[in-house]
Amino acid sequence: MKKSKINVPSIGFVSLGCPKAASDAEQILTRLRAEGYKISGSYQGADLVVVNTCGFIDAAVEESLDAIGEAMAENGKVIVTGCLGAKKDAAGNDIVRTAHPNVLAVTGPHALQEVMEAVHTHLPPLHDPFVDLVPAQGIRLTPDHYAYLKISEGCNHRCSFCIIPSLRGDLVSRPIGDVLREAEILAEAGVRELLVISQDTSAYGVDTKYRTGFWGGKPVKTRLYDLCEQLGELGLWVRLHYVYPYPNVDDLMPLMAAGKILPYLDIPFQHASPRILKLMKRPASAEKVLERITAWRQVVPDLTIRSTFITGFPGETEAEFNALLDFLDEAQLDRVGAFAYSPVDGASANDLPEALPESVREERKATLLRHQEDISTQRLERKIGHRIKVLVDEIDEDGAIARSEGDAPDIDGLVYIVDGHHLAVGDFAEVTVTDCDVHDLYATLQ
Ligand code: SF4
Repeated sequence: MKKSKINVPSIGFVSLGCPKAASDAEQILTRLRAEGYKISGSYQGADLVVVNTCGFIDAAVEESLDAIGEAMAENGKVIVTGCLGAKKDAAGNDIVRTAHPNVLAVTGPHALQEVMEAVHTHLPPLHDPFVDLVPAQGIRLTPDHYAYLKISEGCNHRCSFCIIPSLRGDLVSRPIGDVLREAEILAEAGVRELLVISQDTSAYGVDTKYRTGFWGGKPVKTRLYDLCEQLGELGLWVRLHYVYPYPNVDDLMPLMAAGKILPYLDIPFQHASPRILKLMKRPASAEKVLERITAWRQVVPDLTIRSTFITGFPGETEAEFNALLDFLDEAQLDRVGAFAYSPVDGASANDLPEALPESVREERKATLLRHQEDISTQRLERKIGHRIKVLVDEIDEDGAIARSEGDAPDIDGLVYIVDGHHLAVGDFAEVTVTDCDVHDLYATLQ
């Protein structure tokens, strides 16, 4: 495969101190990896270094200051976090800033958001619009009540428009015990919703041959079904992103029907024409998608399916584009995003013949989104008059702003609860849907 010239932003990470500091470090590392940063083992290879410090006893202070000094000398771009970051000397001066005035930023412990803000300021993340879950307009750092749970890195596929595998390598699944431990820590910290992410969630564990790990003293296989089954025991909303319609996804339907995980699937179909899917080298392109969707909805009638599509891929004919619109009519997807195809530096699709003019790619994107509007609206209209469960994201002067089981944060719609002023962020509530538009629902508590 062609190696991409794109430089993945890379961060050196040094963590000192107690298990609480380690848990802070885990959360920062998880977020960094979820946003596509590479974690480097050395200062030299890194674009920036984060030092997670300890300030408990004098020896720990010395050790932390030495680690910062070393990172400054070896790399020069350093963000300091952890207990020492919050400590002052006898004269009331910030200990870290006094010893190392040129560090980029200093935060105290449990400062995930501040650390991420400092990282974004000094080393912005790479954005790949085809595969990134986070929107291009910036990362809205997750509030306390929901969190991303990354279950693997890399990808075994070689989609022709994508450079992720050349940047991040083949699929490496995290050990199931580690993933479940992180989920439990998040649950204990008050998180109410976990957003399971990876490049290819259905493939979780393939690289480990579904190795048996341990959780709560019991053997558990590194496999999507087992992961969902265990996450379902935490009493949280568990939402799956980046699922491909492999046969093993059928097995998840009973877990959704039983309320163990949310009846929600984010499946980036990208196209419906078999020829274009083949040119795209998409995984599961030969699966009988429409039959699959029908069968899933028989088991889980309120299943929400979100997807994304690429319009104007090289060689896409008018007839193939129309076939995509026909697919949308039949599939009756709930949420659809679209990207006009654009070449990504280093992707093999750049060498395909019959590239379409940008105006055609954009026009087809607009046509597709317009076409889907009616379908999405009709899907939402079916909810009017029904009682649904929501999770509150925000309170403002107009009431509460929440999400239903069918709405992932940032990418799907919202539920506006006009009489929800007294609710709190992170509350679950039961509401009656009174109205909708193309994206959002309107509801009351009564
Ligand atoms: S499945 Fe395809 S689009 Fe997704 S990360 Fe892998 S190669 Fe890229």
